[in-house]
Amino acid sequence: MEAEIIAVGSEMLTAGRVDTNSLFLTAQLNDLGIEVTAKHVIGDDRERLASAVRRALGAVRLVIISGGLGPTEDDVTRDAVALALDRRQTFTPEILAGIEQRFRTMNRPMPEINRRQAMVIEGAHVLPNERGTAPGQWIEDADRIAVLLPGPPHELKHMFERQCLPRLARIAPPLAIHTLVLRISGMSESELDQTIAPIYKRYENPATTVLAHNGDMQVHLRARCASEREAKALLAEVGSQIELALGDRIYSRNGDPLEVVVGQKLAARRATLTVAESATGGGLADRISLVAGSSAYFLGGFVTYSRRLKMDLLGVPEDLLHRFGPVSRETALAMANGALRRTGATYAIAITGNAGPTTDGDEAPSGAFFVAIGTSQDVQVAHRVWPAPDRVRVRAFAAQMALDLLNRRLNQS
Ligand code: ATP
Repeated sequence: MEAEIIAVGSEMLTAGRVDTNSLFLTAQLNDLGIEVTAKHVIGDDRERLASAVRRALGAVRLVIISGGLGPTEDDVTRDAVALALDRRQTFTPEILAGIEQRFRTMNRPMPEINRRQAMVIEGAHVLPNERGTAPGQWIEDADRIAVLLPGPPHELKHMFERQCLPRLARIAPPLAIHTLVLRISGMSESELDQTIAPIYKRYENPATTVLAHNGDMQVHLRARCASEREAKALLAEVGSQIELALGDRIYSRNGDPLEVVVGQKLAARRATLTVAESATGGGLADRISLVAGSSAYFLGGFVTYSRRLKMDLLGVPEDLLHRFGPVSRETALAMANGALRRTGATYAIAITGNAGPTTDGDEAPSGAFFVAIGTSQDVQVAHRVWPAPDRVRVRAFAAQMALDLLNRRLNQS
């Protein structure tokens, strides 16, 4: 079964408001095996909304419309849906009595305009609102269903869970939706897609999505089958081919981010970690320490932005900084060794680079980074240049690369 969601409200078309109701509804519908095929946001415009409702009901069996059920002129949902279905509305005294009662309990007079909320579309089943004044409506039209829900999220959630879920559970044909999330690092998005497209293009089901964010990538495989067993078998079939193609580029199969994966490996071998950061300014330590329980392996670190602190806190020799510059393989190596010496940690990560957008006084090109990873026996340095003229992204890329390198290192030893 397929559904579309329409969020109503001109405020949802401004930069300051986001339609979160549809996220909640999508999750709930997916749990029932109902696929959301489109979402729309429509302003407070009766005709426009009526035509969107008409179009949606022509495309799918279930259309859920949220918001616009209030008492004011710009609350157009009831009128628009009545127009779309070519049905009249009738005044329902019991609803008005309920609204009046609500105002009485709040010790406030009911404004006359609230009478509009007692209008019900012909043939609709009224969904009482236990959290607010606007009742919802459930309307069946041949094999199509339109559901009107209030906009405020707490009202919508309550009404959906109590009154729509049981109805939908009865009519939704059995469909199990399962998702496999693979997280990948250490390759570009295009490299990733080039590697796995020949596999996933052969299947319409599961649907495959590739997401990329600051060097971190995710492949989502979403299987829709009549039973849970079939969905899981299909995911295993396609997932195993993708896993084979990507090998150790995959760092997680359960959604865990890299800092969690690395943390688990460190904890399992009772190893400790320290960091020495220049260009990332503490961003790496922030990610590592965000993980609950990270105190078991993360000792802490050094934010040595200046040459002085690289010398004072990490013991990087002044002549080395002078000869090679602070953004260099040699400095990264000396920072990692200094951090290992000063803390006694098993592993150290050191990052030095130029996050841009300009080339600094030491002539390190914008986006150039050196990341050193290792133990007191062996430190390796990797070099990368990201051309992005965006400090936030470049710093995030560097932290991601550092965690990826440490993860690989932990896989080897
Ligand atoms: P009310 O009678 O309470 O006004 P309503 O059904 O008319 O109910 P709206 O006026 O459309 O609801 O929205 C009320 C508030 O609910 C909005 O200001 C917004 O804060 C929130 N809201 C509405 N729609 C959404 C949505 N799709 N996602 C998140 N919040 C929403």
